[in-house]
Amino acid sequence: DPLSSLLTFDNAFTRELPGDPNQQNSRRQIEHACYSRVLPTAVSDPQLVAYSAEVAQTLGLTEDAINAADFAEVFGGNRVLDQMDPFAMCYGGHQFGNWAGQLGDGRAINLGEIINADDERWMLQLKGAGPTPYSRTADGLAVLRSSVREFLCSEAMHHLGVPTTRALSLVTTGQGVMRDMFYDGNPKVEIGAVVCRVARSFTRFGNFQIFASRGDTVNLRKLVDHTIRFDFPHLPAPAGDLTPEIYTLWFHEICRRTAEMIVHWMRVGFVHGVMNTDNMSILGQTIDYGPYGWLENYDPDWTPNTTDANGRRYRYGHQPQIAQWNLMQLANALVELFDDVEPLQKGLQIYVDAFESGWDEMMTAKLGLNQFCQETDQELYGDLLKVLRLVETDMTIFFRKLAEVDCQSQSGTSDNRQEVLPVWEAYYQPDALTDDALRETADWIRRYRIRVQSDAISNQERKVRMNAVNPKYVLRNYLAQLAIDQAEQGDHSMINELLDLLRRPYDEQPDREIHAAKRPEWARNRAGCSMLSCSS
Ligand code: AMP
Ligand code: MG
Ligand code: MG
Repeated sequence: DPLSSLLTFDNAFTRELPGDPNQQNSRRQIEHACYSRVLPTAVSDPQLVAYSAEVAQTLGLTEDAINAADFAEVFGGNRVLDQMDPFAMCYGGHQFGNWAGQLGDGRAINLGEIINADDERWMLQLKGAGPTPYSRTADGLAVLRSSVREFLCSEAMHHLGVPTTRALSLVTTGQGVMRDMFYDGNPKVEIGAVVCRVARSFTRFGNFQIFASRGDTVNLRKLVDHTIRFDFPHLPAPAGDLTPEIYTLWFHEICRRTAEMIVHWMRVGFVHGVMNTDNMSILGQTIDYGPYGWLENYDPDWTPNTTDANGRRYRYGHQPQIAQWNLMQLANALVELFDDVEPLQKGLQIYVDAFESGWDEMMTAKLGLNQFCQETDQELYGDLLKVLRLVETDMTIFFRKLAEVDCQSQSGTSDNRQEVLPVWEAYYQPDALTDDALRETADWIRRYRIRVQSDAISNQERKVRMNAVNPKYVLRNYLAQLAIDQAEQGDHSMINELLDLLRRPYDEQPDREIHAAKRPEWARNRAGCSMLSCSS
């Protein structure tokens, strides 16, 4: 059996932490336990649609093992290898700002933890492999549409350099899944699918919150200690019981990592869409790809999530504040482990400071400058964000085109249109540019040119620098939807084409120029392209 011989399991989570002794699948409240043992539900015809070669390699899986018939069986949920110990995690969370009580892995099943050749610990998790005690009123399943989105986006984010969970495989189940379509309310049978997600840990803020909400400090402490020992092995944890000193280092690191993740989201124009505390990874990785979206025209108020249409709580520009709010909920959950709240408050301040300095550094890099200069650059960056909103301006294209502006020749032009011409392609409706908007944009580019000149950097050097942090290719909402439309007709080629394209998001790929284009007009208000709902 090639899979069993290639994968070495060490199921520390289920070995070391308290589980639910009751092994029934029924939906219920589960107390004093971090998880419930469950089995994936068998499906009729698991077929491998796509896999990530990089994740396979990390896990030590060969091409032969992936193409063997039992791969789709195992990663579609039909077969559990002897060394696996499948379980669903118990967690709670704040959803849209309100405490929602017990949530848990309602459609995710951890298969077990493997130790790879580099001695790294990786958890394998099936999403959409059937109900668990945490499924509440839902079916535990996932449809091809949402699975394609999760599979492609996790890998795209990784190659962009954004901390994220990964995806090994995308398998269709051969079974229909009923979904109410949010845009017309009609039920529709969709194609079922299972993604195998892979991460060092899937523990979320909500895993700690659930114990705190129930006053169960004993199990809260067990989970915290386990997380520190296994997921933060670089922290100087002593043998025996851990102390508030270690808890402090740990919380501060979570705050720093979360800030770094959010800075990356802002850099690439990613909108998560459901930043509930159950969707916040303790490792500061992007987790749970649902109704996420990519900014097309730069609009801080935009969210792809129709479930959030009124409050727009999770809009692009609000993500930094929400992450801080979520960290505060985590701090509240951990307070029993501390002698006083000061270290927790300090952590929240560390988040703010790390986000602010990370933001300045990020903008400095996006603009190709040598270093951030507090007095002058703050204003330059702020004004750019105003300029980007004057008319619909594609954020991704704008930064790639800005890299081509000639900053070496000393004198610019007094002709505003001429000055703005290098970034013209970023405009959705160039006709909408009024003379005032044109002048404001041209003035900003003039200031930018002068600022670059003070760095004495060549055009070529600056372009290389900028293109290393400003992607040319992102998973544009309409591209994912085109791949889904074709996959639903049985053609999986575009999934693999996008997977390959997004391996090198910063490189020019001349034969794939079309995938760097602006969102076409037909996709403006189409379901799936700019409008998505929570669970699918
Ligand atoms: P989400 O908003 O996708 O993060 O999901 C919130 C909660 O609902 C989590 O506990 C999920 O496990 C659960 N959930 C979402 N979709 C399903 C589904 N189709 N079946 C069972 N549970 C689900
Ligand atoms: Mg979730
Ligand atoms: Mg989800």
